[in-house]
Amino acid sequence: MSTYESSCRPNAVTVREVGLRDGLQSLPVVLPTQTKLDWIDAAYAAGQREIEVGSFVPARLLPQLADTGELVAHAVQLPDLAVSVLVPNLKGAELALASGAHLMLVPLSASHAHSLANLRKTPQEVVAMVAQMRAARDAAGSPMLIEGGVGTAFGCTLQGEVRQDDVLGLMQALLDAGADRVSLADTVGYADPASVRRLLEAARRIAGDRLCCAHFHDTRGLGLANVLAALETGVARFDACLAGIGGCPHAPGASGNVSTEDLVFMLESMGIDTGVDIRQLLALREAAGRWLPDQPLHGALWRAGLPKTFRARAATPA
Ligand code: ZN
Repeated sequence: MSTYESSCRPNAVTVREVGLRDGLQSLPVVLPTQTKLDWIDAAYAAGQREIEVGSFVPARLLPQLADTGELVAHAVQLPDLAVSVLVPNLKGAELALASGAHLMLVPLSASHAHSLANLRKTPQEVVAMVAQMRAARDAAGSPMLIEGGVGTAFGCTLQGEVRQDDVLGLMQALLDAGADRVSLADTVGYADPASVRRLLEAARRIAGDRLCCAHFHDTRGLGLANVLAALETGVARFDACLAGIGGCPHAPGASGNVSTEDLVFMLESMGIDTGVDIRQLLALREAAGRWLPDQPLHGALWRAGLPKTFRARAATPA
């Protein structure tokens, strides 16, 4: 049992796999649908219970994610799996509602410049769109959750500084517009543990438990350090990508998200329950190397393997 203690630190953490969306969307290859289904099944078998399987965007923009509907149809059949999709516009929200996914993540960029480049909308226009999505969701009588994801929350490659007041104001606006919950993303890897603590503590005061997730990229090697800082403010859900794949098309040079296997390893080593079997996850990481032979993969654990002293946390009796 770890002796590391922190008052807000959760005992259990959900690692949400976003490799099939955030990861694959920035790679120049298109994975076959069957391979993605195998990935989803293997992640599920390893114990992952939240997976973002794709995005409802026009196939001409992101051919890598054109099979999102098929993936949702399969994934929703896996018991207790929370299936999420990213949705950038109203058309996408309609498709998400019809798909039966459990959650749609609507990205909002706190950086005005990034928002125009990436979403072709101002942040305020995204807030107004979320209100329309909420109305559509309620009119359909759907139980699907709406998560507003505030990106470039720690800075932006195009705009530079992003003011904390802007981030918090937009987060509040998303909640007011009808988002069920909100999350914060360091889209381009500008965060550090001190800025993470500052922003997340302030965000928690506004959103309480509706602040549901943090999303860190490892662009400059601070991904896991930022997770730890967020963990200490009480965040209990983190996005991650198998093999750390990903990046951002509007953030030149950006590498991927925090790697799922390194994140699970860190949490389990600390005695925090993730529900994930790290050995099965490492086997999946190996498969990713076969599926993406010419793509840059990241992460550290797969190189060295588990230390002899590693012991997965014993399941706590319910
Ligand atoms: Zn990301």
